[in-house]
Amino acid sequence: MKYDLHTHTTFSDGENTPEEMIEAAIKAGLDRYGISDHSYTFFDESYCMARGRYDEYLAHISELKKKYSSKINVLCGIELDYHSAYLPQGFDYVIGSMHYLRCGDEYPPIDFDKEMFSKIASDYFNNDFYAMCENYFETLADYPNRYRIDIVGHLDLITKYNEGNCLFDEDHPRFVKAWQNTVLKLLPHVKTFEVNYGDYNRGRRSQPYLTEPMQKFVLEHGGIIIKSSDSHTDKTIGKFK
Ligand SMILES: [Zn+2]
Ligand SMILES: [Zn+2]
Repeated sequence: MKYDLHTHTTFSDGENTPEEMIEAAIKAGLDRYGISDHSYTFFDESYCMARGRYDEYLAHISELKKKYSSKINVLCGIELDYHSAYLPQGFDYVIGSMHYLRCGDEYPPIDFDKEMFSKIASDYFNNDFYAMCENYFETLADYPNRYRIDIVGHLDLITKYNEGNCLFDEDHPRFVKAWQNTVLKLLPHVKTFEVNYGDYNRGRRSQPYLTEPMQKFVLEHGGIIIKSSDSHTDKTIGKFK
């Protein structure tokens, strides 16, 4: 079965409407297609679904599910940020993804740009990138205490600006221990981890998220790996290398 469960529409920061995305998914030959717009984050409204639009989103996708049921199996998911204020109900699945750290009353984004990433390390972690990564992975490991999630989204997004180990060493024992502990803590609650091709397809990374050692570790410990495009346009749906 061909599927892509991590994609965005105009309900959050995607360029295309849900209907345009579904039509592109049919053209791409998918059997199952999931829309997973960003959950509402009160501290940053620039990219997420607007406050109070969950019901409209669910109802709209529900209509489209019916309309296209003979051509494709459409699912309505959500990409839930850990720091969202609450978990809305009624979705077919939930992708748990961290895009922010919580530093006191601030929620700095880890995926904005390299300058901001380095500034977070200096402002809040005394330039200790490993402490910053430990904070990220420890929070990620706490998901099951807060929300039911079905898929772990881009586990290693924290490495977005670390291509070629330019800021920290991804083989450093502190980094390796941090992500391995998180995978082990998550696995009893959520089996599915995605290999995320979003930044790879946008030409921002040379590899998708979840390095090969991470994929191997997940599989060796009983997890499941799925591939997703994290598409924000109708041109990359189902594109996995
Ligand atoms: Zn994401
Ligand atoms: Zn996404």
